[in-house]
Order: sequence, then structure tokens, then C-alpha cells
Amino acid sequence: MSINFLEHKIFDIVSTTAKENGVRAFVIGGYVRDCFLARPCTDIDIVVEGSGIEIAKAVGKKVKSNVSIFKNFGTAMLKYDGLEIEFVGARKESYSHNSRKPIVENGTLKEDQERRDFTINALAFSLQEEDYGNLIDPFGGVADLQNGIIRTPLDPDITYSDDPLRMIRAIRFAAQLGFSISEESLRSIKRNKNRLEILSRERIAEEMNKILMSPKPSIGLQLLQDCELLEQFLPQLSRLQGVETQEGRGHKDNFAHTLQVVDNITTQTDNLWLRWAALLHDIGKPASKRYEPGIGWTFHTHEFIGAKMIPGVFKQMKMPLNEKMKYVQKLVALHLRPTALVEDCVTDSAIRRLLFDAGDDIDDLMILCNADITSKNENKVRKIKENFALVTRKLVEVEAKDAIRNFQNPITGELIMEYFGIEPSRPIGIIKEAIKEAILEGEIENNFEQAFALMKIKGEELGLVHKK
Ligand code: ATP
Ligand code: MG
Repeated sequence: MSINFLEHKIFDIVSTTAKENGVRAFVIGGYVRDCFLARPCTDIDIVVEGSGIEIAKAVGKKVKSNVSIFKNFGTAMLKYDGLEIEFVGARKESYSHNSRKPIVENGTLKEDQERRDFTINALAFSLQEEDYGNLIDPFGGVADLQNGIIRTPLDPDITYSDDPLRMIRAIRFAAQLGFSISEESLRSIKRNKNRLEILSRERIAEEMNKILMSPKPSIGLQLLQDCELLEQFLPQLSRLQGVETQEGRGHKDNFAHTLQVVDNITTQTDNLWLRWAALLHDIGKPASKRYEPGIGWTFHTHEFIGAKMIPGVFKQMKMPLNEKMKYVQKLVALHLRPTALVEDCVTDSAIRRLLFDAGDDIDDLMILCNADITSKNENKVRKIKENFALVTRKLVEVEAKDAIRNFQNPITGELIMEYFGIEPSRPIGIIKEAIKEAILEGEIENNFEQAFALMKIKGEELGLVHKK
């Protein structure tokens, strides 16, 4: 096999160092796979038949680079020339039933390849002088790369049960690479779905993020659903699937719709959290679903029910309850607003209220709303898109005129207290609210003079007098 893949001088250095130490070293895993896929890859895994840490230290000395050692894992890592190189001793693993932490023993390259998750991830290049650059592919990984197949090196029931994260990794690679998972593997994943319970939710969330960042997330999301994994860790989403019928009327399948929205948004943004918002935008639907005789299916207030569910979803996925969560929550809560606005008439005050509520996230909200249009009726889609274009134009116009996006009340509480000679008290809130409302309604302009004038009027109405 070609040795062009090993052009970088670091491979030569590792090769010489291994020889000096009397051990064999190989490049293995993701880097080798990505060479064949022509995907750029700066993470290099080196497996050594012996101590990975010792070789890492010796290489670190030669290239004058700090080595981070993770003694518990028997691994060491160094950074060199923009590359991240991880060293590990070849190992043989066995697992106990209720943990994904393996019992690890030293092993050979062959044994190390067997414990890898997929044939495409078990490829290795030799770094020995006598067969430098030779590909070692005991399970037909290159053929699987060519045929776009994800398959385990050993019996899938063993591979998946040993470390159930591999089930989600299989699906993640299917989404990232557009590959299919072998039938045998798919059957095994379904059989082993309950093994997910031993996994930490953080690891699952990491894989979910990678699925969402893949070119067509619906591939991975549909597989998660079909293999019955999604219901294990994100039942709120899984529950969107299905169509109920009454009086001969059905509603759309909200799971299929959600997947389409996520694929749509993927073409418009690389923002992971906006993609999460697309994924979760309709999770309030099952709880709000009603059949109203003569009218049909309704999902009233599903956006608010959904927004309320977001912290629970984040907590359950062990994702941080920070401003990203609040951002997703806000977009879910607001996702119907631009559409509702189009259906009424697009008044300036409605636009100002939308700008006020969405703030700096208004552009992301519009991206979400556009992605949310999945009707098959082309006329309807064209009409909605035209109306959205109008809303977008108006948003720009009104923002240029009134600067509502980062609304700051022109009148501060301090000024009100000083002007009327009062202590912190209820009237301050009432006056500020009245000024904000008047600006949003367009009764006064968003500037100090007009707001100050209104402050005086409102103060007098409340029985306050100007303190000279
Ligand atoms: P990416 O870096 O895009 O996440 P990767 O395949 O490089 O993909 P890493 O997590 O970097 O994944 O792991 C490097 C290699 O380690 C993999 O190619 C695979 O050989 C092996 N590996 C990683 N995780 C597992 C696992 N859970 N079970 C078995 N082997 C694994
Ligand atoms: Mg990697």
C-alpha cells in the first residue's frame, strides 16, 4: 500500500524511536481511515506493542515537545506541528457485564485491532523499517470503506454489549460518512438496546452533537429511532412519531417533520445550538395535541409547553444548563411568532414586539422558521416564503428606525428616583413599563426626549411631583 500517507516526518521519528526501544509501532484507527477517505485529520493514534508512554516520552524528547501522560489509561499525548499524537500500548480487553470500563491486559497488534469498534476503524499502517507503510487490514476494512459499510470486527453482540457507546458511534459514522450499517449489526443493535443504560449521558450527548453536525442528520436520527435507542435517552423526541386519525382526519407525523426541519437548517447554519433548537422545536406537541370535532387536530401552545420541557431535556442529557440552554428555550418558545405575524397583518408594532422578544437572536429565529416550512404544497410554500421575505424586510426597516433589538429603556430607574425625589418603589417599574410599551406600540419614538416627556406625565398620573 502507498506510503504517501506517512509523509510527515513525525512517522519517521516514531519509527526510529520504536526500533531503538526494541518494540513495534503502528499508526491505527481514525487517521488511517481518514487517509483512505481523503478527509483531513490531525489526530494521530499510535499503538505500540509495549509501553506507549515510554515511546511517547522518547519521541517528546526528540521533537522537544511536552508529553501529557494519562497513567490510568496507559496513554500519552504530545502536540507537534499542528498534530495531536496519542500513544497507547497494544491491548487486549475483556469486559464485565455491568460496566463499560474494561479489564485491560497487554496484547498484540492483532488483539488491539479486534477490540476496535468497526472494521473501518481497525486499519493500521506499519512503522517498521522492513515493511514501512504496509497496511494491516485483517477484517476487510478498506473494502468496507469502498462499499460504505459499517461492520464490527468481531461478533457484533460482543462488540456492542462490551461497550454500548459503539451502537451510537455506528449510527454517528453512518450519518457523518453517509454509510450504511450492516444488517447483522443493525439486528444486534436492536437486541442490545437496553445496554445503553450503563452509558454516561455525557458520552451520548457528545455523539448526538456529532450526528447533528453531520451533513444530513436525519440519517442518524432515523436510525436512532428505528433501532429503538432514541426512546432510551430522548423519549420526548421519539414520542413525536406516529399519526392519529379521528373522523377520517390525520395530522402530520411530527417526527418525520422534525427530521426534515433539522436537515433544512443544516444547509443554513453550522451553529450546533440552532440545530438543537430545530430538533426540539416541536417536543411540546404530544402534550398539547387535541382533536376538536369539526375542526381537526390542534397543538395549541405547544411552543410554550416545549420551551418548558427544554431544561429537563438538557438535564437528562447532562448538557450544561447555561445560556445555550436558554437560547434553545427561547427559540422554541418563539418559533411560531414570525408565522403568526404573517397570518395577521405585519404592523410595525408587531415587528417591534418580535424584535424586542428575540433580541439578537432574531436572525437565528428567522432561519428556524424558514426551516420549519415543510409543506408539500408548493403554492403554499411559495406564499409563506414570500411573506417571510416581507417580514425580514420589515424587520430591517423597523430596526433601522427604532433600534429595538438590544432595547435599553431610555429612562433609568435612577433618573426617575432623582427627578421625583423618591426611593426604590413600585412607581419606578410602572413608569418604565409604560415607556417600553409606548415605544413598542409606536406611540412615542425610541429616544430620550419623548421618553422623558412620557415619564413626567406618568409620574403625575401616579401623584408624584418633581423635586426641584
Ligand atoms: P472522531 O475523531 O471523528 O470522533 P475516531 O474514529 O477517530 O473519530 P476517536 O474517538 O478519536 O474516534 O477514536 C480513535 C480510534 O479509537 C477509533 O478509530 C477506533 O479505532 C478506536 N475507538 C474509539 N472509541 C472506541 C470504542 N468505543 N470502542 C472501540 N474502539 C474505539
Ligand atoms: Mg479521532
